[in-house]
Amino acid sequence: MTLSRRAVLAGLGCSCIACGAGARGVQPIHTDPTALAPLLAPGFRPSDGDERGLWQQLDRAEGDIADSPIRVRDPALERYVGNLVGDMVGDNRRDLRCYIVRIPLMNASMAPNGMMTLYSGALLRMRDEAELAAVLGHESGHYLRRHSIASWRQRRDATSMMAFISVGLAIAGGAIGGGTSGSVASLNNSLALSTFRYQRDQEAEADAYGLKLAEAAGYQPHAASRFWRSMIAERDASARLRGKRREQPSLLFSSHPSDEARMTAMQDAADRIARPGRGYRDGATAYADALAPHRMAFLDDEIKRNDPGTSLHIINSLATPTWTGALRYREGEVYRLRGDPGDEPLALAAYTQAVTLSDAPPEANRACGYALLKAGSGAEGKAQLQAYLARRPDADDRGMIAFTLNQ
Ligand SMILES: [Zn+2]
Repeated sequence: MTLSRRAVLAGLGCSCIACGAGARGVQPIHTDPTALAPLLAPGFRPSDGDERGLWQQLDRAEGDIADSPIRVRDPALERYVGNLVGDMVGDNRRDLRCYIVRIPLMNASMAPNGMMTLYSGALLRMRDEAELAAVLGHESGHYLRRHSIASWRQRRDATSMMAFISVGLAIAGGAIGGGTSGSVASLNNSLALSTFRYQRDQEAEADAYGLKLAEAAGYQPHAASRFWRSMIAERDASARLRGKRREQPSLLFSSHPSDEARMTAMQDAADRIARPGRGYRDGATAYADALAPHRMAFLDDEIKRNDPGTSLHIINSLATPTWTGALRYREGEVYRLRGDPGDEPLALAAYTQAVTLSDAPPEANRACGYALLKAGSGAEGKAQLQAYLARRPDADDRGMIAFTLNQ
């Protein structure tokens, strides 16, 4: 898990699983956003036999992912993300396809055939369209600059390609996702295996390309470094609650610059390309609307991972500037699931606040009721359990609740 967290944080939310190794690509690498242009014509299809064979394999894997049970099947959300990619890449829009998969990790990837995979854990963490644009632009950059194929061709690096395909097949089979710890751990191992081969220059170029695309589409170019800063804070929060020092970079990832260095590089690049008076937008409202049907389900997946520091960091971020009952309830759940007796008052405080807010789910009343009973407040606890039953008349656990109420 230690390794994989690092892996997941190693790219701008991007393990970019397919991008593989890379001795320097065939073409020079640029980190100046203004110097970057696509290396692929719109409608590109490979003509060389080896690359064609690779695409055929990837096209099959893509078909499986498209049919996978953990694909988030929300045409409106898929259209929203697809349109954003299309707005940024212009004439190349038909060459890139984005699939959203329900896996509670901060990740995205780009395959050499233009198949992008965006994890629900990434969408959960973003606050607006500008941050989404930075991540999608980064992934698009890997494709348009032909990072993976250049590396693959140079090194015949079948290992990372096969790792990509095996992760793809695991997604397709629904073997991963859904937040169970074992499956996430095995996914993380696959990601770790396939990620460490990244070259920092390819990541740096993808960062720069993402900034360029997002800025040209009218998004605040500083969103990328802001998002990155939040990822660093999340990692620190996770370590803090586990009572550990921040994880040190693994040897496997020693080719990566530190997260801080990368954030600074993105900030500097944004300073350079930001145009005064341009009137950038962040698209926060449109983003919130697009995510609204899924956000709490994605958050529940994250909470099941049992990484309380990470979950609380995300909840606090979503609750800025306004707490909701739904978020307070989840805050209580994080403390309750941690199972530390010292957390019981914290869980109770969160549930108690949740039930005063209008959008708390009925389960908040139930959780509040049990927490109050445990704290010795019998009458108040029973009142909350009754409120739960009133709000959820067909509750599966009605019998058990009634039993408690009769004690
Ligand atoms: Zn990347």
